Amino acid sequence: MAGEARDACGVVGIYAPGEDAARLAYYGLYALQHRGQEAAGIAASDGTSVVVYKELGLVSQVFDETVLASLRGHVAIGHVRYSTTGSTSWVNAQPSYKAGPGGQIALAHNGNLVNSLELKSSLQAAGGDPTPADGRPLPTTDTDLVAAHIARAEHGDLGAAILHVLPMLSGAYSFTIMDETQLFGARDPHGFRPLALGRLPGGGWLLASETCALDLLGARFVRDVEPGELVGIDRDGVHGTRFAEPRPAACVFEHVYFARPDSTLQGQNVYATRYRMGEALAAEAPVDADLVVPVPDSSVPAAQGFAKASGIPYGEGFVKNRYVGRTFIQPTQAMRRQGIRTKLNPLREVIAGRRVVVVDDSIVRGNTTRQIVAMLFEAGAAEVHLRISSPPIRWPCFYGIDMPDRDELIGARHDVDGIARHSGATSLAYLSLEAMIAATVVPGEDLCSACFSGRYPVPVPPEKLRSKHVLEQPATAR
Ligand code: SF4
Repeated sequence: MAGEARDACGVVGIYAPGEDAARLAYYGLYALQHRGQEAAGIAASDGTSVVVYKELGLVSQVFDETVLASLRGHVAIGHVRYSTTGSTSWVNAQPSYKAGPGGQIALAHNGNLVNSLELKSSLQAAGGDPTPADGRPLPTTDTDLVAAHIARAEHGDLGAAILHVLPMLSGAYSFTIMDETQLFGARDPHGFRPLALGRLPGGGWLLASETCALDLLGARFVRDVEPGELVGIDRDGVHGTRFAEPRPAACVFEHVYFARPDSTLQGQNVYATRYRMGEALAAEAPVDADLVVPVPDSSVPAAQGFAKASGIPYGEGFVKNRYVGRTFIQPTQAMRRQGIRTKLNPLREVIAGRRVVVVDDSIVRGNTTRQIVAMLFEAGAAEVHLRISSPPIRWPCFYGIDMPDRDELIGARHDVDGIARHSGATSLAYLSLEAMIAATVVPGEDLCSACFSGRYPVPVPPEKLRSKHVLEQPATAR
């Protein structure tokens, strides 16, 4: 994808007696780096106290041998972050640490709650953040709010405190939570964000946002944490508790763009799903052309599927500079424009004189797409046919993906013809919603596709809608 929408975050949790849990968490975070590149953190415990280290930057920049050596013990959680709520600053990095009546806890969150205002009021009514060292009576992120609520809950046991707080939450969350001796993983009743459970080669346990983290650690996939389930891991093993009726609505955009292609989501390999999306796109929007090229890297499987189904040769049309961060790291429009040229360079020898199909997984604002089309024409393309392996994005996400406001989404401002004109392409076609869902091999009723359809599985309060410039009431959920 051409960028312009920020990833969800990534979480890990390790329970590994006799092993260096923080180091295992570090490797797990490495595998999840694509889910957040703004900050990274690990909390670890040796059974007596929880120590947290977090900093702005990539996993490789945040941790070194000295830091890892200071994070001792067999229990750890980790987090890579993009800011979906709260500002970009150290205090909003995760894991969030709190100390309350029940002891110390650390919490890592992937997702976004829609009732943070309510949580703030109820926390205020309860007396605020119980962690004296913070000196901040009311946290600014929904993650910190949840951690403060759990730390304040006087239930003796962390599992009971979590079960007391989870029913207060509305929206998207996959949590890893720990205290001095135990690890927990929880997934909201809709299961918007993934969370997998694995078994480490040494007999310990691993929770991770994506199965690619399990692979890196040589762990065996055991199962997904179920929507509406709290999983506890301690010296007695793994025990799951259902805290809410599951109403699955997993994020379809994880399948389209966010997850790594070597991960498995809801039993389906992501690479294979994207390949099928490309095949379906070729069937729905055929075109007479000489060459199919992907926008690297996330669109490669869809472009390969398109090429296979259409019989048009596949080629690498761009060289990607792998040492440049994703384009959306640069904050301003002008810098983003420069960013795409820094990152992608068309291969003139491959492109010149050819009728090119360029496959991308999505269009968000549209500016990057226009740049890509312009670059292909500058490289001598005779025609540029844009094929997008998902439908137009018309609505912002409120469940953990940081998309632009509604009025910045080109799919909300223009119909497909208008987007085609804006892009400058010879032709433009999107994959239909039905075909995208069919390619996931997951029943449509078990997926969230609100950014395409406007049908939000969890109602979004008016103030949240307004914050993303959604001025009309979207067609209500399923
Ligand atoms: S609105 Fe879109 S990005 Fe957000 S959870 Fe739903 S499908 Fe995913």
